[in-house]
Amino acid sequence: MSTEIVHVSERTQHYIDLESRYGAHNYHPLPVVLSRGEGAFVWDVDGRKYYDFLSGYSAVNQGHCHPRIVGALIDQAQRLTLTSRAFHSDKLGLYESFITRLFGYDKVLPMNTGVEAVETALKLCRRWGYEVKGIPDGLAKIIVCGGNFHGRTSSVISFSTDPASYGGFGPYMPGFIIIPYNDLSALSAALADPHVAGFLVEPIQGEAGVVVPDDGYLSRAADMCREARALFMADEIQTGLCRTGRMLCCDHEDVRPDIVILGKALSGGLLPVSAVLADDEIMLTIGPGEHGSTYGGNPLACAIAITALEVLQDEHMAERAEELGQRFREGIAGLRSPHIRMVRGKGLLNAVVVDHPDPEAAWRLCIRLMEEGILAKPTHGDKIRFAPPLCITSPQIDECVETIGRCLHCLD
Ligand code: PLP
Repeated sequence: MSTEIVHVSERTQHYIDLESRYGAHNYHPLPVVLSRGEGAFVWDVDGRKYYDFLSGYSAVNQGHCHPRIVGALIDQAQRLTLTSRAFHSDKLGLYESFITRLFGYDKVLPMNTGVEAVETALKLCRRWGYEVKGIPDGLAKIIVCGGNFHGRTSSVISFSTDPASYGGFGPYMPGFIIIPYNDLSALSAALADPHVAGFLVEPIQGEAGVVVPDDGYLSRAADMCREARALFMADEIQTGLCRTGRMLCCDHEDVRPDIVILGKALSGGLLPVSAVLADDEIMLTIGPGEHGSTYGGNPLACAIAITALEVLQDEHMAERAEELGQRFREGIAGLRSPHIRMVRGKGLLNAVVVDHPDPEAAWRLCIRLMEEGILAKPTHGDKIRFAPPLCITSPQIDECVETIGRCLHCLD
C-alpha cells in the first residue's frame, strides 16, 4: 500500500488514530472519516461533502439513510426487534411471502451477513446432493471459480484463490473444485464428476475488479448444470438488487438459478440482512434445528427488507442503473486518458483499470479523487470500482466523469 503522506485535519487524524490504536488492522481505509450520509452523498467530520462511489460495497443501492427505509426501521424498532426463531413474529411470514413472490421461489431462508447466506447455500447444496441426487455420504463436491469472493469464513476462504484471503488460515475445508471463471469447457469437465452437487458463481466478479463474463456464459452454465443434475447457485450479494441494471444480474440472460444468494442492499445499508431463495425440493432438505441464526429473520430486519425492496421497485432503480451506467462508461471512455486501460461493468457496477507503471497509481488517483470530492477505492492494485448509489442523477454522473478526467492528470 502507498506510503505517500496525505495531509488530513487534526480532527480526522484523531479518529484515524483511535481506530488504529484500538481496532484490529484488518482494513486499509482511505484517510477520510465520515459522519453523515444522504442519498449519493456522505460528509466527513470536517463537514466536507463527497460523492460515495463505493456505496458500502453495493449495500447502499437505495442511497444513504433512505427516508422510507429509516422510517420502517424507526417504526419497527419501537414495537419489536428480536424474538429469535423460538417464537413466531408478525413480520417474518409477511416478509417471506413478499420476497418469495417477488423473486419467484417457493421459500426463503433468512440470515444476516452475506457470507452466512453463502454458507447456507453450500449446506443446502450438499444436503440436496445427498438426499435428492443420491451422492454417497461425505463425498459431495461443489464447483467454484478462480478469482471468486464469497466472504471470509473458514470454509468460504478454503476455496478462495487470493492468498491474502486464505494464507495462514488453514487447514482448509475439502470438497471444492476450483475452475477458471468464464470457462465453459472447464465447467463441463468438472461437471462430469458424479459427486458434484452444484456450481457456485458470481454473475460478475465484483471484488476481483468487476470481471464481466462473456455474454451467454451464465445461461449456458445454468443449462450445463441442469443437464448434469447439479445446482446452479448465483451469489448475487453484490450484483443483485438492481446494481447491474436488472433486479438480479442473472436476469440479463433470463437465467433462473436453483439457489439465489442475496445480502448487502437487502437492507439498504441499515443492518446486515441476507437471504437464500430456493424451491421446496432444495429448501426442505434442512429441517428444524439443523441450521439457523439468532438474528436471522428478526422482525426489524424483515420490516426493513420489505421496504428496501419496495424502494428499489418504486424508484425504478434497475432502469436508473442501466441508463446511468451506460452514461458513466461512455463518459469515461470519452476522456481518452492514456492512464485508463479500460472501463468495464454493467449498470452501475463498474471498474476502471488504471494503466501506469507506478503500482500505486490507482491508490494515488483515489486520494486525488477524495480531495476533489469523490470517494472510490482501489481493488487488486490497478482497478478502481465505481459503484455509486442508484439514486445518483445523470447531471451528477456527468459532473463526476469530468472530475475523474481532471484528477487523472495527477498521473501525468
Ligand atoms: N459474496 C459476494 C459476491 C460479496 O461481494 C460479498 C462481500 O463483498 C460477500 C459474499 C460477503 O458478504 P458479507 O461481507 O456481508 O459477509
